[in-house]
This record gives sequence, C-alpha cells and structure tokens, in this order.
Amino acid sequence: MLLWKVASIMEYAPHASIWFPPAGLTFSAILLLGLRAIPAIAFCCMAATFWEDATYGTQLPWQQLLETGALFTLAHISAYAIGASLLKLLISRRDAHQLPSLLLAFTIIGPASALLAGYLTQTALIISGMLPDSPSGHQLWLPLWVGDLLGILVLTPLLIGVLRRIYPRYGVWVSELGLRQLPGSGWEFLLKLATTLLLMVVVMLLTASLQSKEMAFAIFFLCIPQMWIVYTETPLRSGISIALMSFATALLVKYLALHDDALVFQFSISVLAASTYFGLLIPVLASSNSRLREMTRKDSLTRAYSRQHFFQAELEIQRARYYQQPISLIVFDIDFFKQINDRFGHTVGDLALISLAELATTQLRQADMLGRFGGDEFMLLLPGSGQIDATTTAERLRLALPNLRVEGLTSQITGSFGVTEIAAEDTVNSAFEKADVLLLEAKRLGRNLVLGTITATE
Ligand code: GH3
Ligand code: MG
Repeated sequence: MLLWKVASIMEYAPHASIWFPPAGLTFSAILLLGLRAIPAIAFCCMAATFWEDATYGTQLPWQQLLETGALFTLAHISAYAIGASLLKLLISRRDAHQLPSLLLAFTIIGPASALLAGYLTQTALIISGMLPDSPSGHQLWLPLWVGDLLGILVLTPLLIGVLRRIYPRYGVWVSELGLRQLPGSGWEFLLKLATTLLLMVVVMLLTASLQSKEMAFAIFFLCIPQMWIVYTETPLRSGISIALMSFATALLVKYLALHDDALVFQFSISVLAASTYFGLLIPVLASSNSRLREMTRKDSLTRAYSRQHFFQAELEIQRARYYQQPISLIVFDIDFFKQINDRFGHTVGDLALISLAELATTQLRQADMLGRFGGDEFMLLLPGSGQIDATTTAERLRLALPNLRVEGLTSQITGSFGVTEIAAEDTVNSAFEKADVLLLEAKRLGRNLVLGTITATE
C-alpha cells in the first residue's frame, strides 16, 4: 500500500506515474511467491482505484468503481503473472553459470510484461468508462508502459532481496544467482551516493531554471557515477542507489514541473537500470572464474593439488636452483588399496584417501606441496630438503600411516615411497619418473618401504 501511495505522489498525468513501484513489487512477488501473492496485490489494486477516485474527486458511483477496480486488477495481475511465470520457468531450467542470459531474459521479459500491463490497463479504463474511447484515450499505454517498466527494472532485484528476508522459505533459486559479495565501508558508499544524487539535482535544477530541453539530456552523465557504484559496491547497494535515483528523479520531475521532459528522465533511468544489471555481472563472472581456477588447481576429494597444477611447479625448482638450495620429490602409493575398496567399500576408500592427504599435510612445511597424481598415488615437493631430509620425511610418514584412523576401516594402511633429490638438469616430470621407478621397486621388494636414490631406508 505504501508503494502504491508513493506511485500516486509521482503521478504527472491522470493515471500515469513517472515511475510506478507497485509494478516492480507485483512482478517480484509473483516471481518469488507464485499465485499466493495475488490476493494482497488484488486488494491493493482495488484500494488504489477507490483512493484515486477520492484524489480526483470524480465521485463515481461505487458500482462503477468496483467494476473499474476489478478490470484494472485483472489487467495488472494477469500481465505480470504471465511475465513472472515465464521468467521463473527459464530460471528453474538454468544454473547459476548462465546468469548473463538470465539477466538478458529479465531485461526483455520485464519490459514486455509492462507493455502488456500498460495496454491491458488502458483497455480496462476504456471499457469501464474512465478513459474516453477516442485517440487521446488510446495513447495512455505509452506513459503507463514506461512508468511500469521503470518500476520493474529498478525494483525487482531489490524487492526480491527484501521478500527473501521476509519469506526465507521461498525462492531458494534466488541464492543460485550468486549475487553475493561482502560490503565495503558504509561511509564510502554514502559519499558515492551523495555525489550521484547531487549531480542529478544539479542537472534537473539547471533544466528547470534554463527552460532548456537540451540540458535534460545531461542526465545521461549519471551513468558514470552509477557505474562507479556498480563496479565497487555490492549488488544490494547498486540496487539501493538506482532505486533512490529513480525516486528522486520522479519527485523532482513533479515538483520542478519538468513534465515536458519526463520521457528523457524516464529513459535515462531505464538505461541506467539496464546498465546496472549488466555491470553487476562483472564481479559475478570474476568470482566464478576464480572458483573455476580453484577447481582445476585442487583435487576435489583430497584438496591436494591436481596433477596438472603440480607439474607446473617448475618455478619452485628454478627458485631452489637460484638460491642454491636442494629440492626433493617424494612419490608414494597406498599398498593393496584395491583390497581396501573391495573389503570396506569405496566410501571407506575415499575416507582413507582424505585422511592420508590430511596426515601428509600435517607433516608439511609452508613451502612444501602435496599433489595427487591420481588413484591412490600422491607426490610431495619439498623445497629446501636434500635426499637425506626428504627420506627422513618419507620415513616419518610411512611410520605414521598404520596409525591412521579411518571410520569403518578395521585394517591398517601401509604405503610405499620413492624419494629423489631433484638434480640440476631435472624437470618436475623427469624427477617424477625417477621417483616412480623407485616406488615400483619398493612395491616389488614387498611394500611398506621407502626407497631413495642414494640411501634406502627400511
Ligand atoms: P599396490 O600395492 O600395488 O598399489 O596395490 P593397489 O591395490 O593399491 O593397486 P593400485 O594402486 O593400482 O590400485 C589403485 C586403486 O585405487 C584402483 C582404484 O579402484 C582405486 N581408486 C582410484 N581412485 C579412487 C578414488 O578416488 N576413490 C577410491 N575409493 N578408490 C579409488
Ligand atoms: Mg596402490
């Protein structure tokens, strides 16, 4: 009801608001809550019809007001129910990675539903006799459309956020959109917001005082501070900023009597809102890129480095050479792991791999790297450790393995190890081959064994 009241404050022509926030609420409420949102919206449509009548003092008979209200309710709700259901259908079929195409769908479906709502409302008003069935009556759809369109573009994301707080059980899919980010300093945001609003007020005051249509177009410069907010603040704050700017623009159009330039201001706000959504994609895409990078860097089961990432550790070798430090590689593999899987199941096998990676990590220093070659075979890169140190580390790990506690596993785990100090001419690959030969030799000699190039310790 509050939003409907706000809309009536911003009316600049009979039945037409510069900016119509209830359209945004209807669209987001049906999108999030579905049909259960309709009774409350229908009530507001009816109430608004009666208070519009009181505002304009038309004193129509209540039967005619009821009929007008019912037709308007039908027009408003059916247009947005169709649009919101279509968008919801698209969302439920896609995943979070397709956010750009979802936003594109929203910026097409939202304005299209507003167009339908504008046309249906005009028809409802003509049928009920509130608008003349003449060329002037048939022109109301345009201002109705633009006002509703702004309400949807500007408010839908913000209202979805508010409705989600009130009804946390609904709209689980919203969190899939991934529009989450940590907010920065509140003062900085207020400063940016104040700068943007000030610029807007200056442009609109100049337009009014100079009586200059050309001056009104300077409102498009607001794109610069708004994009500054979008790129540096959270999506919620960008939404708040665009909502405040729309509200302030609409109020100023009304109180500075800029009705003749209303369309310029309305279009500038819709361009601003649409650019905001596409601007929001940048932090989202950046965070999903870093998530993807993390996924290729680490093995998802054990969190050890993936084979691809591990074999790119050439830099570590070069650094060790530069500082004339030794660097060694341990390759190890669980003994008879297939039997563990066969006896206790793959889930227990997985848990054993996870516990083994955790155990190895506890033995590491900060510069050391644990990688998973695949299956039950792991590798450890130890910068600063020569053959003897690395063999001692491997031996410590070998002795710790039988004490590993794994839920559901009643037998002891042992492992075989190959240790090699990486020579000046070696790459990670060639060092791996050397250590792997030693590992195979340790298996052949009976397993539960550490074999090194210089020293072999049992
Ligand atoms: P060996 O002592 O010769 O190493 O004998 P082994 O049974 O351990 O033989 P090998 O290392 O070749 O077997 C590895 C087994 O690990 C084969 C495969 O079924 C199993 N495995 C590979 N990846 C996974 C995994 O991610 N989870 C589980 N549970 N098992 C895996
Ligand atoms: Mg094995």
